[in-house]
Parts: sequence; C-alpha cells; structure tokens
Amino acid sequence: MKVRVCEACGQHNPEDAWYCSNPNCGESLPQSAITELDDSLVKLSPPPPEPPDVRASRVAAELSRTHHDTSPASGLSASETPRYGALRGIASLCTGLGVLALVLAGLGLLAGFVMMTVGGGFLPGFGVIIVSVATGGFYYIVLRVVAEGISVFVDIEENTRHTALYVQRAVALLEKRLK
Ligand SMILES: [Zn+2]
Repeated sequence: MKVRVCEACGQHNPEDAWYCSNPNCGESLPQSAITELDDSLVKLSPPPPEPPDVRASRVAAELSRTHHDTSPASGLSASETPRYGALRGIASLCTGLGVLALVLAGLGLLAGFVMMTVGGGFLPGFGVIIVSVATGGFYYIVLRVVAEGISVFVDIEENTRHTALYVQRAVALLEKRLK
C-alpha cells in the first residue's frame, strides 16, 4: 500500500492527496512523499481528536473574537450599551421618595405623641398618628413597588438582549464553520 506521508506532521494521506488531511497542518505533499507501506502495519487513520477542553476554549476564543470583530454599524456593539437611563432614574427617584414618605410618617408619629402627651388632646394626637402612619406607609409601599417593577423590567430586558446577542454570535460562528 502506498501513502503520502506529510513531512511536517507525519500524517498518512491517500496516495493521490495533494495536501495533508490533518486539519491542523494542511501542508502541500510533494510526489516524493509517496511511501510504500506494509498493509498489515498501516491504516489511514484520522488525526487524533482534539481534547474536549482544548476544543471548548478554542470555540470560546472564537466566540469572543467574533464579538470584537463586530463593527458598531451592525448594531451588535451598540446594543451592548446600557439602556433605560430615564427609567433607572425614575426607579431611584421612587426609592428616594419612598424613604421621604417614611421620614414624614415618622415625624407625624412624633407630632402625634407630643399632642397626646404634652398638649393638644389625646384623640387628635392619636388621629395624627394613624393618618401619618397610614399615608406614609401607603406611599412608601407604592413607591417601592414602582421602583422594584422598573428594576425587574430593565433586568429582564437586559438579560433577554444579552442572551439573544450570544445566540446570534453562536449561530454566526456555526454558519462560518459549516461553510
Ligand atoms: Zn501534515
């Protein structure tokens, strides 16, 4: 049996091969590389498979390279920038107003106690306490809910966008490799 032995990597190629079939080599094979071999000793074997961890890191490297190669014009890099600055601003404003509502409720509570004990009457003081705590608590809860809702929405939207972007890159890479 005749094979063409690659001088660069030692791969055994078919006799009529012009280039080394080892995907990591690909050297051209001169006529002189044809070697007569004992059939019982040789079979045309594919190159040893890449170890899985090497393969995985190479794919990961290609994925990140695809990412860096992406021009801003394609919109991929542009969508990486954080969005919803205004919504985030409203969320922190709501959180701040919620704290303010609690502070005002605390002041009302204090005023109510003063009215109950020092002067102004027990019942009016008690009324002031009830109204401040109820109002402050209500506004605090409403503002917290709005702030949390906005944060959750922004987070979900961001995660979805990142996932979509990653899948997009993976598909692009896969298409490139299948060509
Ligand atoms: Zn070779």
